[in-house]
Amino acid sequence: MQSLIAEIAVTAPLKKTFSYRVESAMEGTMAVGLRVRVSLGRRRSVGFVVGLRRGDPKGLKPVGELLDEEPLFDSALCRFLRWAAEYYQHPLGQVIKTALPGGLSSEVQRVAILTEPVYRAVPTGQAPRGRKQQEIVDAVQQQGEMSLSALRRCFSAPHAPLSRLVELGFLAVEEKEKQRDPFFSEAVPSDRPVSLNTQQQDALQQIATVIDADRFQSFLLHGVTGSGKTEVYLHAIDATLRAGRQGMVLVPEIALTPQLVARFRARFEPSERRIAVLHSGLSDGERYDAWRRITRGEVDIVIGARSAIFAPLSSLGLIVVDEEHESSYKQGEGFRYSARDLALVRGQQLDCPVVLGSATPSLGSYYRTEQQQMTRLSLTRRAHDGDLPQVELIDLSGKTQESILSEPLVDALQQTLEAQQQALLLLNRRGFAPFLLCADCGTSFRCPNCEITLTFHQREARLRCHYCDYFEAPAEACPQCAGLNIEPEGAGTERLEQELSELFPQARIARMDRDTTSRKGIHQRLMTQMMERRLDILVGTQMIAKGHDFPGVTLVGVLAADGTLNLPDFRSAERTFSLLTQVAGRAGRAGGGRVLIQTYSTDHYALDCASRQDYRGFYEQELDFRRELGYPPCGHLVNLVLSGNDEGRVFGAAARLGGTLEQHAGDVEVLGPSPCPLVRLRGKTRCQILLKAAQRAPLRHLLTILEAVRGQLPQGVALAVDIDPVDMF
Ligand code: ADP
Ligand code: ZN
Repeated sequence: MQSLIAEIAVTAPLKKTFSYRVESAMEGTMAVGLRVRVSLGRRRSVGFVVGLRRGDPKGLKPVGELLDEEPLFDSALCRFLRWAAEYYQHPLGQVIKTALPGGLSSEVQRVAILTEPVYRAVPTGQAPRGRKQQEIVDAVQQQGEMSLSALRRCFSAPHAPLSRLVELGFLAVEEKEKQRDPFFSEAVPSDRPVSLNTQQQDALQQIATVIDADRFQSFLLHGVTGSGKTEVYLHAIDATLRAGRQGMVLVPEIALTPQLVARFRARFEPSERRIAVLHSGLSDGERYDAWRRITRGEVDIVIGARSAIFAPLSSLGLIVVDEEHESSYKQGEGFRYSARDLALVRGQQLDCPVVLGSATPSLGSYYRTEQQQMTRLSLTRRAHDGDLPQVELIDLSGKTQESILSEPLVDALQQTLEAQQQALLLLNRRGFAPFLLCADCGTSFRCPNCEITLTFHQREARLRCHYCDYFEAPAEACPQCAGLNIEPEGAGTERLEQELSELFPQARIARMDRDTTSRKGIHQRLMTQMMERRLDILVGTQMIAKGHDFPGVTLVGVLAADGTLNLPDFRSAERTFSLLTQVAGRAGRAGGGRVLIQTYSTDHYALDCASRQDYRGFYEQELDFRRELGYPPCGHLVNLVLSGNDEGRVFGAAARLGGTLEQHAGDVEVLGPSPCPLVRLRGKTRCQILLKAAQRAPLRHLLTILEAVRGQLPQGVALAVDIDPVDMF
């Protein structure tokens, strides 16, 4: 007897999918993309329906309960998710779980339409007693009405005073549907339509032709900083919507790109186009809400970070990946996918064009254009006809320096301040100093969980590990020699900020890094202050190199440019080149900027090329190096990371696994096992085996061997398979 059989991917970490019988009463409502409850061995589990077929149901267990009324994804998205699971060697159920909004795979059955209390002031002619109560009433009065979540953002622990104020009749409260997206409460600038210059027009035209033809083609939009790439995206998305399709825009990190979001909203909302912004500030409920709006076809444009690549748009006509070189497109844990690479796959599956954009394309993408696998579109001039800034390298070698700021940089800062212009200073290291050192015996302080020196944070008087949550109070005496000369060594942004305020006591100086922007809204506030010229100098980590235009900045300074160059990763030159070129591009957006880079490596090609903004020159030299060593894009990598609490077991297991792989290696080079650059991380010992091959096929073959022996790993040793690794730590 034939009946309907559902293929189910469960959320447990199992590679296989399972078949279940669909009882006839359920046949009418069964569909791909629904969540169901099933029994798995003796446990119950939540699973996703990923396939339906007719067949012999003998011996199959029935599907339990259906958990959704409408599918969460359609079969085209299902196909894409399967591809991703297969390619990245990750269990399909967990891939789907990563793709869907959080909270869905648990036993929570349904996320309800969210409501929350909204408060309104009641005129009483009197004032409440307590100061906090008064402040709350003032705030509510000023805003007209305020939701509980908005009040929470402004006041800590507003609950008790709120209920008191309602009781006393100062506030009225009403349950209202929760505001869909807090991001949308920010003001949107008015749109400034521009007519595209000839380079932009040419780029747009090539993309538009493909949009109209409904076929896949990938483009690399290589445009120098400020060349008007975003304007090309806006026009291309417009063409997509006009063709009756939907658009997707991926950005490295939403919080760092509010200007881009604002420009999309300003351009499209007046014509009633519906935009969903997926960002990390959304609650599970809000994310679910957005997901549902998208599956129902109520959204025209999705803008989001990495995971937005899975957004369930059913009629996708264009995917844009902005700043495609950014490593944040790759997820570093669990399901280790690259949203940039998956964008190309999704485009191919849906016959839809994909545009990758950058001022400093990843080597891989540029290589593809050289191989004619991708079409290169170039914007070589700044949109405002402003010249690219003039870059100077300041050679620090052989000089002993009292200050972390060299003389030429101090002079340039002085001039900038006198001219009432603004400066950006990049130092890619937060904290006061990267370590404390005993000047008598050389002892430094390390994280007990991570084998890495602890960073000294002066303001909070703590030594902090930047890889785990560990911190301690700085010791007053050396634990080794009891000496009292414990000195901070090297400099981070906190020290730089302090030194600057001593040098320029009149200047308005602020710092932007993960420490100063951990509270919501601070990043935005610093950007606004820069825009409105209420700051003279902004100091920061790589965060300041990203995603915004400060027209008043005429000087950019880079300290310790070598920091990223000396990391044990074959991409360190590429990262350095890209960071320097991007930050240099922040200078003189309105024309006539100056960039000073302090370094010990003036003759390194990454610095030399960055100083001339010479992408092509950098590409050629870097490619020679990659080719010689068989590294991507001239070869393919898979990194196997073994980790566990017991060092002996981890190294033992890695040695055995390495031996087995070696026997079956064929055309694959098996490198290691060797300790990871961060050999201990969060208390676990880590060891890696790097697989390298010129072609993908032999690598895939070796991975099937790995799959077969994976079960033999001892208890307490975990294996992570990282396909096309980006971060090698
Ligand atoms: P990118 O994304 O390459 O950094 P943007 O699209 O942000 O560049 O453009 C930089 C600036 O130039 C923006 O202020 C933008 O409004 C402006 N701009 C872009 N294209 C043009 C154009 N064709 N004419 C005038 N201004 C333009
Ligand atoms: Zn640590």
